Amino acid sequence: MSKVFVITGPSGVGKGTLISELLQRLPDLELSISATTRQPREGEVDGRDYHFLAPEEFDRRVEAGDFLEFATYSGNRYGTLRSEARRRLAAGRSVVLEIEVQGARQVRAAMRESVQVFIAPPEPGLLRRRLESRGTDSAAAIDARLEVAEQELAAQDEFPHRVVNDDLGRAADELEGIVRTELGLPLHSGAE
Ligand code: ADP
Ligand code: 5GP
Repeated sequence: MSKVFVITGPSGVGKGTLISELLQRLPDLELSISATTRQPREGEVDGRDYHFLAPEEFDRRVEAGDFLEFATYSGNRYGTLRSEARRRLAAGRSVVLEIEVQGARQVRAAMRESVQVFIAPPEPGLLRRRLESRGTDSAAAIDARLEVAEQELAAQDEFPHRVVNDDLGRAADELEGIVRTELGLPLHSGAE
């Protein structure tokens, strides 16, 4: 049984960190590589971290109906290409989408069977500290992301699953538990 897992939540909450932990624990899951018009950060690789598209190319693919969902976030466009999800599902793999809240709503409407998880911070002030410690965004970009975060936090009750990313190991255990339950896998790997 393969499923689509949508992981959402404000920037800096730890979505990427939790997902890489999840993918290590459950190697049959695959991350969908999103398309974006944002500039690559240092160290980001086209086709691995994102499909980096020029705005005109992004528009062309919107017009062609290539996106399962897309949204504008903090001045840039982001979207999930249908081909990214379709290819993996056809191969019997489950797919993880790491997307912001507007996109999560679109996936919910298009795929009612998708599993939607909101990652929340233990307290809102932590987002700034995590974004600053990540060191990938300018002060202005961090401010813009925190403004969006307020709206995103206000939407968290829409989501059937909510995981507070306090302690990384504990939050990863909880997320893994949700995924295992949805996939009908045993809750423990049997290591203990
Ligand atoms: P997002 O993908 O949601 O924007 P990241 O996964 O990039 O967030 O995490 C933002 C920063 O917070 C990173 O520097 C990451 O190492 C750190 N971080 C993530 N989870 C935790 C945690 N549970 N405790 C402390 N720091 C964390
Ligand atoms: P970043 O610029 O930090 O990589 O991503 C900014 C925001 O865009 C994050 O909340 C991230 O989850 C979201 N995002 C990444 N890919 C997609 C996508 O394909 N669709 C949507 N809607 N949001 C995305």
